[in-house]
Amino acid sequence: MDDRIAIFGIGLDPLDMTQAIDRLLSWIAEPDYASRYVVTPNVDHIVKLRHDQAFQEAYNDADMVLVDGKPVVMAARLLGVGLPGTVPGSDLLPALFAASAQNGGVSVFLLGAAEGVAERAAENIRRTWPWVRVTGVYSPPMGFSADSPATEMALERIRVLAPDVLAVGLGAPKQELWVHRVRGRIHAKTVLCIGATIDFMAGEKPRAPVWMRRTGMEWLHRMVTEPRRMVIRYGHDAIVFPWLVMIEWIRRRRKAP
Ligand code: UDP
Repeated sequence: MDDRIAIFGIGLDPLDMTQAIDRLLSWIAEPDYASRYVVTPNVDHIVKLRHDQAFQEAYNDADMVLVDGKPVVMAARLLGVGLPGTVPGSDLLPALFAASAQNGGVSVFLLGAAEGVAERAAENIRRTWPWVRVTGVYSPPMGFSADSPATEMALERIRVLAPDVLAVGLGAPKQELWVHRVRGRIHAKTVLCIGATIDFMAGEKPRAPVWMRRTGMEWLHRMVTEPRRMVIRYGHDAIVFPWLVMIEWIRRRRKAP
């Protein structure tokens, strides 16, 4: 964690997809269930983090922090900070599944998404990566948090199944806060906070075309496909984030010799 890059109030691990997958596979190869967890910041997370102490703590304690959003890479570049590119959670999970073939596959538990969606994602995963064992799925009731009775049920199911990977798709900051609060009780080798990835894998929500992801326009695709939620989210982010970039620029200039 020493080589983390401090920017926008968080520490980023400057890893590309291959390096991130290698790290995950090495954690999974260890015998202990350390529940090492991964977060993937995008612009929306960075904006939300500013006024949310618990979210910041969840980020500070994360074992791997990978850049999800291309706009974060572009803003960092503007500030003179080079990052190796993005490692979005929605690409990380499929890439891990694909890479795990060489190690005999991984076991995974899917936590999140609406009723029935995680089951459909599980079927698609089994079909696409037959060496991946989806041993459990659980879609908790909406409003789920670390204080909900459903948390005990989820932790018990995970404890019994002891997966290599717990994929948590509850949206941010809910998923990071939940993982941070109950981490010591999660019996999994690694935990990935992956937002809407379970929806994407189930075919419930369409993922942006590759050209949009490559050019940093994934947010626009989400805004068009989920206008009610995303217009408010991205509208707010579009106002706040440029200010945060400016503040970061000033901070860096003051620090410079
Ligand atoms: N979600 C959930 N429980 C909740 C709130 C959200 O399971 O209490 C799920 C929702 O069904 C969706 C996922 O969280 O599958 C991700 O939501 P969002 O689109 O906000 O994710 P992000 O933009 O962070 O990728």
